[in-house]
Amino acid sequence: MSEEKIYISYNHIHQLCQEVAPRIMELDIDFIIAIGGGGFIPARILRTFLKQPGESSKRIFAIILSLYEDVQTRGDDAEEVGTGVKRIQWIDYMDSNIDLVGKKVLVIDEVDDSRTTIHYAINELIKDAETQAGGELKTDFYMFVLHNKLKEKRAELPACIAKAGHYIAARETPDCWVAYPWESDDIVHHQLMAEKQGYDIDIDRSSLSR
Ligand code: 5GP
Repeated sequence: MSEEKIYISYNHIHQLCQEVAPRIMELDIDFIIAIGGGGFIPARILRTFLKQPGESSKRIFAIILSLYEDVQTRGDDAEEVGTGVKRIQWIDYMDSNIDLVGKKVLVIDEVDDSRTTIHYAINELIKDAETQAGGELKTDFYMFVLHNKLKEKRAELPACIAKAGHYIAARETPDCWVAYPWESDDIVHHQLMAEKQGYDIDIDRSSLSR
């Protein structure tokens, strides 16, 4: 990963969500699953732009995952560090009264880095959906991220997400740290850096919906 850090402002994130909203609107999704914590704010912003007059807002369900370094022993007894995913919080389908069968579901995270998280989350959701449907997958999954880092990934996109139009990244970035505003402990400095770097001005305002 390069030493460069890309600062992203709240305004820019809001506009990225607005920019992709028409494409997502066409998918006619039933609900959103946000991967926390980074997917929460984009999910909430996107929901604003998916709201149709006279219709209720899309429901957002939350899952929380954490990445950990996993030391694995290879056949020759040498150890290698891989990255594993731990579930911190998952959907309680009974309690939330949701059924994945026959639904179009949009999963949201902020950044696709090594792809480990997306790979894990979608595959686990597929297992849930197949169980609910009695074995066959009858759920259409879509994935939205603000940023996709152009780098060698540790995992593949699950086949249902690799299909055309099922994976939406608002922007592609080089392999460097993307600094999001909600992580900042000095939002004024963060905003100044975002303006100075100019990532915030790559939006064609005439293309924005509403
Ligand atoms: P993965 O490597 O599984 O694609 O990414 C896992 C998680 O690591 C992301 O959901 C995000 O929370 C965090 N992450 C990875 N790269 C970055 C980055 O450049 N900036 C920030 N803020 N978080 C990142």
